[in-house]
Amino acid sequence: HGPAPLDLDKLARGIRAGDRAMLARAITLVESRKPAHQALARELLQELLAETGGALRVGITGVPGVGKSTTIDQIGSNLTAAGHKVAVLAVDPSSSRTGGSILGDKTRMARLAVDRNAYVRPSPSAGTLGGVAAKTRETMLLCEAAGFDVVLVETVGVGQSETTVAEMVDFFLVLMLPGAGDELQGIKKGVLEIADMIAVNKADGDGAMRARAAASEYRAALHILAPASPDWSPPVITVSGLANEGLDALWAEIERYRDVTQKTGRFAAKRQAQQVHWMREMIFDRFHERLARDPAIRSAVAEREGAVKAGRMAASLAAAEIAEMLGL
Ligand code: GDP
Repeated sequence: HGPAPLDLDKLARGIRAGDRAMLARAITLVESRKPAHQALARELLQELLAETGGALRVGITGVPGVGKSTTIDQIGSNLTAAGHKVAVLAVDPSSSRTGGSILGDKTRMARLAVDRNAYVRPSPSAGTLGGVAAKTRETMLLCEAAGFDVVLVETVGVGQSETTVAEMVDFFLVLMLPGAGDELQGIKKGVLEIADMIAVNKADGDGAMRARAAASEYRAALHILAPASPDWSPPVITVSGLANEGLDALWAEIERYRDVTQKTGRFAAKRQAQQVHWMREMIFDRFHERLARDPAIRSAVAEREGAVKAGRMAASLAAAEIAEMLGL
């Protein structure tokens, strides 16, 4: 016989009680592509809405090899040891291409994977960045309803994924390697602009001096890029994820950020703006999906694209005709 029919009330109760099996089932529902599952997931999220929002949401990025998994495993372990419940999620839009997600893989975070107060979830493989991000956001809300008070969202700098993650978290942390210019690290200038803090990792052994030198460089770079807000200047620190050095100070900075921005009101304002932003993103996603899926619209678009390319049809007329087909 198949799986038992889904009982939304039971699922919601289980999540509220912090039942991990129920949480996992709900996340599976959120990640499902079946319209019936998605409808159930929406109902569940609406039901749990009042219980969401309780976590400090932190995005973490950095090039492969910078030490994301090592550092997250250690920060997470420090936090659970201090009584927190930590969820680690990931946004990896390349996972659908490579057939498996690398980020958030449990094997990369050996301690957290077996920690009863941690929950590590790999990136959903939903295809587009927008699709992956939507599912990660909803998973984040489910984790909050289940009582997790820290959510870490990991991403690599693939295309727009850093910006997308920055738009779903309270605080965005950028990990850097010591002794390498930002060009060498493939870090785009844009990532410095969205960083709430830079941590130069591997500041241990032979790396300590180079890490401090790199930190001064990033401090200078951040000084040139005007501060994003009047209440926070992104600090640049050095840490060792491997040796667990500087990570308490790192977390203290994140809590300081939360305290400062809660006082100024920016914390809540940012979240409100994010919610509205997500809603709009999901409208656009649906719109794009309709354009991509509806066969009549697809062929009409292809036909007009040909006509526009050949100079037989004005772009504005072609767009207007498609808009009319969409009922706009
Ligand atoms: P990720 O690809 O960003 O997740 O990086 P990993 O966490 O897998 O780390 C890549 C390599 O760097 C591994 O060999 C780690 O052991 C090493 N590493 C990570 N953090 C540190 C650190 O703080 N110091 C040193 N010396 N090595 C580190």
